[in-house]
Amino acid sequence: MTPPKILIVGCGIAGPTLASFLLLSDVPPSQKPHITILEREAKGRAHLRGQNIDIRGAGVTIIRKLGLEAQIRAATTREEGVQLVDENNRVWSQRGVDKTGTIQSGTADIEILRGKLSELCWKNSQRVSAIAEADGAQGIEYIFGEYLKEIKQEDGQVRVLFAKSGERRSFDLLVGADGMQSRTRKLVWGEEGEKERLNPIGMYAGFFSIPREDHDGNWRRWFHAPGGRGIMIRPDGAGVRSTIFMYVVNDKDPRFMEVANKGNGNAEAQKALLEEYFKDAGWECERIIREMKATDDFYYDTVSQVKMDCWNKGRVVLLGDAGYCASPISGMGTTLAFSAAYKLAGYLQTYIKGKSNDPLSSLAEYNEQMRPIIDDAQQLAPGQPHFYNPETAWGIWILHVLVSSLSCTKILFVIIKFFGRILHLGPQAADYVTVEEFGFKSVPQWKAENIGKKT
Ligand SMILES: Cc1cc2nc3c(=O)[nH]c(=O)nc-3n(C[C@H](O)[C@H](O)[C@H](O)COP(=O)(O)OP(=O)(O)OC[C@H]3O[C@@H](n4cnc5c(N)ncnc54)[C@H](O)[C@@H]3O)c2cc1C
Repeated sequence: MTPPKILIVGCGIAGPTLASFLLLSDVPPSQKPHITILEREAKGRAHLRGQNIDIRGAGVTIIRKLGLEAQIRAATTREEGVQLVDENNRVWSQRGVDKTGTIQSGTADIEILRGKLSELCWKNSQRVSAIAEADGAQGIEYIFGEYLKEIKQEDGQVRVLFAKSGERRSFDLLVGADGMQSRTRKLVWGEEGEKERLNPIGMYAGFFSIPREDHDGNWRRWFHAPGGRGIMIRPDGAGVRSTIFMYVVNDKDPRFMEVANKGNGNAEAQKALLEEYFKDAGWECERIIREMKATDDFYYDTVSQVKMDCWNKGRVVLLGDAGYCASPISGMGTTLAFSAAYKLAGYLQTYIKGKSNDPLSSLAEYNEQMRPIIDDAQQLAPGQPHFYNPETAWGIWILHVLVSSLSCTKILFVIIKFFGRILHLGPQAADYVTVEEFGFKSVPQWKAENIGKKT
């Protein structure tokens, strides 16, 4: 049997993770799949953007299997926990990180910048690829700064047209791991159904970084302003920048959606809208707005969930945020990306080992096994996002007093520990994602002291 040719669109978190596990399939080198990863961003830019994300539960098991745990732990942001602050920076409550990782709270045991994590996933896939090549397999082909214009399925093949080069190529399987705004999803499932698939939860956010000031510290400070506005200021781990999550919960102003629809080429309009909403909010907003205008790592999007009945159409399958984005406030996005990439590679083993002529039964299993996991992960805590982001100053005061008294009496801890999963308080679902054994070959741990050195 000739090895399957697999195109993975997107070199974020899920894409290179899938590629790594596929190459770790326990088959002779000549039978290992031929993998191409296509990334829209240019090589130097692809792994720059994005702020704090976390890895929890099953996600931690997967990075260990990838040999990536030490590198990731060496690159964390070292966030101490979450503080609720008011306009005078008075701390109303604080909840530290649970370093044992046994209770899933706001700050996870592993917090890392998204750009750094995607860079590590990409470099680790290069490392796995080099090991496979040395063994006689074909290594991963990476194409940066390119995207697909057309995807067609005929004669058991996925035929694609590259937008910039105009080249046409055929693959046995195409995996869309191209994020929440997935172009693969739009090309294959149709633009017209996007309104049903992409479900905004009424929250719009800018993610960027600003120069760090001494008082920023290592705690995440979370400030609320009336009108459903909020800002989180967080450490970057390097002690150089502070990262910002600036959001508005708003169902009325259509401009939030309009500026998002125009994509990231529209950063000036997105920044201007956030400035309009935050210029009178007090606290450190003057500094944050000034720096937002100057920053070059600005990223804006609607906070949305992707919901679909089925994640494959023939030989095209969606992975990670492209198929089932749970939203940044679920705390599950990265853990889902890791677990789903691992599972998809696992279910594809029957196809890769030649026990099945096509990948369709593997994709059916992926759909079936992922469904309960996704349904669980997409359940947000009751009242999210409105209860946590009050409309009035009184509402914010009540939130502060409530959280503060629940934290002081440790009731919050007890509620999260015993009822967190049922009530969907925090990303408890990460602990309940199973990590089956698929018989992948193991990969040597990538030691932390090699950070920054060529792999
Ligand atoms: C620039 C950026 C910044 C982010 N910042 C944050 C953040 O600050 N906080 C947070 O919680 N989550 C953030 N996320 C989302 C987070 O990375 C995901 O929720 C999660 O890690 C799941 O990963 P994924 O691999 O499924 O998708 P993503 O991490 O979104 O990766 C998708 C990849 O596909 C590429 N891509 C997109 N379209 C195409 C195309 N047409 N052709 C080829 N490649 C394409 C993207 O450039 C990206 O590299 C960000 C995502 C991106 C792309």
